[in-house]
Amino acid sequence: MYRNLVVGKNSLVPIVDGIMAPYINFDNAATTPPFYSVLEEVNNFSSTYSSVHRGTGYKSILSSKIYDEGREVILDFIKGDRDYHTVVFLKNTTECINKLSYRLKDTLGDKIVLSTYMEHHSNLLPWRYKYNMDYVEVDSRGRLSIEDLEYKLKKHKGKVGLVTVTGASNVTGYLNPIYDIAKLAHKYGAKILVDGAQLIPHHAFDIKPKNSDEHIDYIAFSGHKMYAPFGVGVLVAPKETFKDGFSEQTGGGTVKLVTLNDVIWEDPPLKEEAGTPNLMGVVALVTSIKTLLSLNIKKVEEYEKGLTKFTLERMRSIPNIILYDDIDVDQKVSIISFNIEGMLHETVAKVLAMEGGIAVRNGCFCAQPYIQKLLNISSSEMEKYKKDENLPRPGMVRISFGLYNDHDEINVLISLLNEIGKNIEYYNSKYRNLPFY
Ligand code: PMP
Repeated sequence: MYRNLVVGKNSLVPIVDGIMAPYINFDNAATTPPFYSVLEEVNNFSSTYSSVHRGTGYKSILSSKIYDEGREVILDFIKGDRDYHTVVFLKNTTECINKLSYRLKDTLGDKIVLSTYMEHHSNLLPWRYKYNMDYVEVDSRGRLSIEDLEYKLKKHKGKVGLVTVTGASNVTGYLNPIYDIAKLAHKYGAKILVDGAQLIPHHAFDIKPKNSDEHIDYIAFSGHKMYAPFGVGVLVAPKETFKDGFSEQTGGGTVKLVTLNDVIWEDPPLKEEAGTPNLMGVVALVTSIKTLLSLNIKKVEEYEKGLTKFTLERMRSIPNIILYDDIDVDQKVSIISFNIEGMLHETVAKVLAMEGGIAVRNGCFCAQPYIQKLLNISSSEMEKYKKDENLPRPGMVRISFGLYNDHDEINVLISLLNEIGKNIEYYNSKYRNLPFY
């Protein structure tokens, strides 16, 4: 239904023996290909674009207007409040979370940041070296424990300043009950950041009014995971977050007045966006959002759920498969992680790429603590990996769908996985020591 919306869907790649095969991209959790509509808009806009907030020419004025209107499109998309929220355009989710971790330091001080065992490193490391931390547990299947969240909020009695949690896991695809988490965080006096990198492209999201106890205080997401090219990330936060102090990056565009002794900072969001901004990135993201809205994000969600269900049903009977999730597709986005018993994740990924032209991701997907939990690897066991860099690392193979994937592509995957599962020795001997391509 959506198959002709993205660039490169029908391109061919060389597979084994130089044969050309269609490229099947099942690595959308890493990055999605751009919509044609996005490329068209970027192309059309190229003749108009000029410096944002830095010129008096017609094109510059128009560019500034389009850039600033982009913030309104974002707020409408997530049902934000134009008076209360601000939209900061940065490079990606990682940069957004890093910014927030710097900018909250003055208000959070030595309060605890409560994160979880299932976070992407981009929602762990920015916090870890600046704050007192604690982590909410996951169960043996990797689901977030809401009981442990409440237990830790109670245990730290009013000392938790922020709960920072992913909206959807980039390993299992599990959707977290973010509004229940928000309610609990607020009940115990904390705010909540949702890492929306995997949530926003696949699931309807509502930041909710500030007076609702379910509202989300901060959300961050990346354009390149939602059919726009690399280079634009979005942080939405209450304006007051940036009222005091100044950005971790300063420079052109962030000030109203500068003398050699003094500075008057711009109001947010300008004071948070140092340097010439990425106008084309914003034009691209706004177009991808408009395209997603025109397709109806609920329908997209249903379609992707259908793909996930179709795949999981067939994957369960693949010989020697190990799957890492056991929940209803309604409770996850379109991500499936697995292993084949007796094969390295890397070898499986290699076979898929070289025999089927199928792109997946393998390894730890920048979520090592979560992978260690799911694979049941103790911290003492992890010591051996610290000592020996050449030891094959634990990990998984990940399939992640975009809205343009289809059943035919999944059938190719399933039949190749069946072959692999039945012929482990053969594929190990052929591919284990072979470099990729
Ligand atoms: N959080 C999650 C859950 C992710 O999946 C990713 C990207 N893999 C990120 C954060 C970081 O996104 P980016 O690389 O665009 O900063």
